[in-house]
Amino acid sequence: MTDFSQPFDLIVVGAGAAGLATANRAVDLGARVLLLEKGEAAGGSAALSAGILWTAPNLEVLRRIQPDGDPVLGPLVVAGYEQAVEDVRAAGVTVSEEWHDHLEWGRACKIDILDLFTKWTRKVVTKGGALLTGVSEVKLVIEDGRVAGASFVHDGESKTAFAGGTVLATGGFQGDPELKQQFIGNGADDIAVRSNPHSVGDGFRLGTAAGGAASRHLSGFYGHTLPSPLPVSPEVFLRLTLYFSTYGVLVNRLGRRFTDESLGDEVSNQFVVREPGRRGILIWDDEVQQKRALAVPYPSGMALDRHAEATKLGARTAETDTLEELVDVVAGWGVDRSALASTLENYQRAATGEPAILDAPLPKRPSPLKTGPFRAIEVQPCITIPFGGLRVNGDSQVLDRDNHPVAGLFAAGADAGGAQDLRYVGGLVFGFVFGRRAADAALAPTLEERGGAQLVSAL
Ligand SMILES: Cc1cc2nc3c(=O)[nH]c(=O)nc-3n(C[C@H](O)[C@H](O)[C@H](O)COP(=O)(O)OP(=O)(O)OC[C@H]3O[C@@H](n4cnc5c(N)ncnc54)[C@H](O)[C@@H]3O)c2cc1C
Repeated sequence: MTDFSQPFDLIVVGAGAAGLATANRAVDLGARVLLLEKGEAAGGSAALSAGILWTAPNLEVLRRIQPDGDPVLGPLVVAGYEQAVEDVRAAGVTVSEEWHDHLEWGRACKIDILDLFTKWTRKVVTKGGALLTGVSEVKLVIEDGRVAGASFVHDGESKTAFAGGTVLATGGFQGDPELKQQFIGNGADDIAVRSNPHSVGDGFRLGTAAGGAASRHLSGFYGHTLPSPLPVSPEVFLRLTLYFSTYGVLVNRLGRRFTDESLGDEVSNQFVVREPGRRGILIWDDEVQQKRALAVPYPSGMALDRHAEATKLGARTAETDTLEELVDVVAGWGVDRSALASTLENYQRAATGEPAILDAPLPKRPSPLKTGPFRAIEVQPCITIPFGGLRVNGDSQVLDRDNHPVAGLFAAGADAGGAQDLRYVGGLVFGFVFGRRAADAALAPTLEERGGAQLVSAL
């Protein structure tokens, strides 16, 4: 039975990557932590993830990939990566060998994320804290101008808990049509959600109601293209993700390209939202099929014929011997036939160095489009996490419009925005790095008050 009569050292709202990393660090500092989770179990989107802990290997790569990312937050992630991996190892959890070409430029390792979360959760509870699942109606308690705790409903009862710091880690606003439309625009309210179902902007709303400001990059988001028209559910999140779109040719319903595909599926995915009907058509030849589409997308990833799988599930797909036949089939999906034919012709010309007019830059490794069979698939955009959220500093403190910290309030993971601009440099790592930093910063005053010694658990 959880004792609410004594204040906790820290309250964490949301028990996914960021929330559990925050709680783990806080427990290491001797804190008594209250973890509030809306779902029936801890884990969030992180528990559905591929478990790849990765980011840019150094500042030079970070700046190349994210020239407009937050100048403080991004570098802290690069600097904090090794500690994040060390935290996983310290829990006694399996960490794979590192590889250095994740998405061609990232450093990465695979971790056993479910085992990690089991261990971190158990640790919180055995050290006198609590994890309450199925929590609803979370509100922040403001006293004397600072966030002093949270009220919520659990097991049908209203409760209030107090703590020196409260960390928002509810995983973003991807599940909320209104915030998606407001910030991403272009009819993004109905784009499919490729994440846990509970991240509906609660952290953002709680934080802004307490005086927090919004971050930059509110229109950017991480996700992937998936075959269309198919319902998007956890069974297809990893199975049907079209990682290899990077190596194909992507057109809209006007038959025109709209992005440099080599920027990555995560970038194409964002641009598809701005195209007619919010749909794209990915086209590739058999060389790309054999070398890229059938290959594992990353070590430990799933090797699968995603075109065949999508066809089986009823998505709009085509496979023909010639490119001309492919254009005919794709035109039947409502795509402008003559524009598509001319787009592919000009692309082929440009790929062989001939002069040609292109709607979007030629990728650095153009798709050959030479060897049949040729394949096409209609794609839909999906959102996993937004890049925008609450404005924070490097200590995960939520900032107001004048960039002053909102006393007692912190945000980490996808609730904290601004670090990523258009391209993607990791998801889990942001939760792990800034969760740890949130715990350090939130508990610093209490540690100081108690003479720098570790906190003594209230039990
Ligand atoms: C299919 C898939 C594959 C992925 N693969 C990778 C990968 O390999 N590597 C990588 O780096 N990233 C990956 N990601 C992204 C990564 O999972 C997220 O970036 C990360 O989980 C975000 O961490 P978070 O703590 O902000 O959110 P989450 O991990 O989603 O945790 C948020 C938690 O808050 C809870 N919550 C929401 N509202 C409330 C509320 N009001 N009160 C209490 N609790 C609440 C949610 O239920 C959830 O448990 C993947 C995601 C998906 C879906």
